[in-house]
Amino acid sequence: METIAIKMTCNKCGGPAEHIVDKSVEGHINLEYRCKKHKEQDEQKTMSKTIDEKIKEIDPIVYDDGGKTVDRYTVVFAGAVFGMSSDPFSPQGFNQYCGDITEFPQGLEHTGRRLSIDEIPEQIKKAISSRVIMMEGE
Ligand SMILES: [Zn+2]
Repeated sequence: METIAIKMTCNKCGGPAEHIVDKSVEGHINLEYRCKKHKEQDEQKTMSKTIDEKIKEIDPIVYDDGGKTVDRYTVVFAGAVFGMSSDPFSPQGFNQYCGDITEFPQGLEHTGRRLSIDEIPEQIKKAISSRVIMMEGE
């Protein structure tokens, strides 16, 4: 018996494809092919899109002291206050619960400049969304 090898090429780079992406909508079959590299890129994009969507939902308040202190970012969401360094996931990083918002009656404006949602650094967004995932899991 002979098997027919169908040669698939990546829709992004034309290289040899290993993965099929099903982009079918409402009965329209639309399969695309991805090489290993572009499959990984797609997955990363999906992940960061999910984080952006989550951040919009959470709508955190983030203050940035511009790097004066280790806990550069003061982050407020779900009634809680967190201190975070620029890279909260690094071993030297900092990502700590500072207390309930009611413990800061003087406000947090003095901790830095308030960032707009688009200004929040990627690592801080990740740290916020992973904290929320943890909180939801409890
Ligand atoms: Zn490719």
